[in-house]
Amino acid sequence: MNYEELWELVLAELELQISRPNFLTWLKKSALVEIRQGEAMIVLPNYFAKEWVEAKYNKLVFGLLREKEPSVKKINYAVDSGLFVKKNEPVKESPAEKQLSFAETRLDPETGLNPRYTLGSFVVGSSNELAYAASQAVVDCVGKRYNPLFLYGGTGLGKTHLIQAIGNEIRLRHKNQIHVKYVSSEKFTNDIIWAIRNKRTEDVKKAYRNVDVLIVDDIQFIGGKEKTEEEFFHTFNALHENNKQIIISSDRPPRAIPILEERLRSRFEGGMIADISQPDFETRMAILKVKMQEMAETVPDEIISLIARLVQKNIRELEGALNRIIFQAKQKGGFDLGQAEKLLAEMITRDNVNITPTQVIKAVASFYEISPTDLLGRSRKKEVVEPRQIAIYLLREMLNMSYPYIAEKMGKRDHTTAIYSYEKISRIIEKNGVFQQKMIMIKELVGKPDSRVV
Ligand code: ADP
Ligand code: MG
Repeated sequence: MNYEELWELVLAELELQISRPNFLTWLKKSALVEIRQGEAMIVLPNYFAKEWVEAKYNKLVFGLLREKEPSVKKINYAVDSGLFVKKNEPVKESPAEKQLSFAETRLDPETGLNPRYTLGSFVVGSSNELAYAASQAVVDCVGKRYNPLFLYGGTGLGKTHLIQAIGNEIRLRHKNQIHVKYVSSEKFTNDIIWAIRNKRTEDVKKAYRNVDVLIVDDIQFIGGKEKTEEEFFHTFNALHENNKQIIISSDRPPRAIPILEERLRSRFEGGMIADISQPDFETRMAILKVKMQEMAETVPDEIISLIARLVQKNIRELEGALNRIIFQAKQKGGFDLGQAEKLLAEMITRDNVNITPTQVIKAVASFYEISPTDLLGRSRKKEVVEPRQIAIYLLREMLNMSYPYIAEKMGKRDHTTAIYSYEKISRIIEKNGVFQQKMIMIKELVGKPDSRVV
């Protein structure tokens, strides 16, 4: 039996064991490409399918595969969009393509950098010109010119991409001989809390002060966290005095971060501040073309410009729309302007008028394969807590319901639970592209007759 036949058998059983929308969305387009030394490699068409299958179905898939091929000890997952273009053709390895899709999943544990983000793949337009030029200057003169470099701008406009790209570029130029550390401000905060709790502040201090380049993403989240601010202030000074480069991103300028200590604010303002704003049409077109090439896809020009015209505010959403359209074309066997228009219209101006809370609850339950009763119940298990918070989020988002009303609908809870859940999910969505895609998919299930309820 070859891999393809083996995988067909596994898929046939998976299809029986999980709900139809989940099977179609996550597993139908998957392939087993090799089994080597007990490790099976399964590829999926996109990054969110990979995340999802890995998190949710790994146990099931592993069990089924192992039943049929006992030599399998472990499963690895990877993304390869190219594999699903021509069905039934033997798998050919195009090295460039493989590298690209595998790169997405690889985070350097030492630096925290993702090699996917490069200056070369960052499209420059009038909205980010200054930020880009400042970034290049930092790469050319590490620690000497613009220190700190403070980049700010709205969600999904390329801050993380750009500051990670600076880190990658510096590493490349200096043949990895320079110590770069990238952290989200959340990670920084957690490290400090951990250090205090475990009486290891010296170790953590060292870890942060021993670098040549420190990159802190989304610094706005440390505003008001006293201990963290304090520690960051000292780390900042120590690095700055030694001409070590500091790079910071934020969703707003320093003066607009509430409760940020004055002394820290003035440090930030002592360097170079550049903003990233919303991209104009030409930039959006260029970005879509770059993303299309990265995925080794060819999307007709008229569809690219349609996306660029309709999705204006957020580059992450721009990418999401492109992904959805490619996904649609693969399911339907080709691109079609009318279909694409319909899909985008649904994505953008979803008409929520006729949606009922029950439909939202059912869609979430179906997506996560739990029963609506459990979703509304009292269990604190992880498998139901997150879906419950998502249902709350969507009720607010899609139906504009008040918190007390949502709390009532969600199994007579306290309204503060509803507020907490909504805020928590909003924060995750802001930062996590995969999560955002999940939301899109759940929203698409709302009101659909085939959102089967288990
Ligand atoms: P932010 O951190 O500002 O929320 P990200 O850096 O995560 O935004 O960007 C969101 C997505 O958009 C990423 O996939 C990123 O690669 C892409 N992106 C943003 N700006 C650009 C750009 N100028 N060129 C190419 N891709 C971009
Ligand atoms: Mg970011």
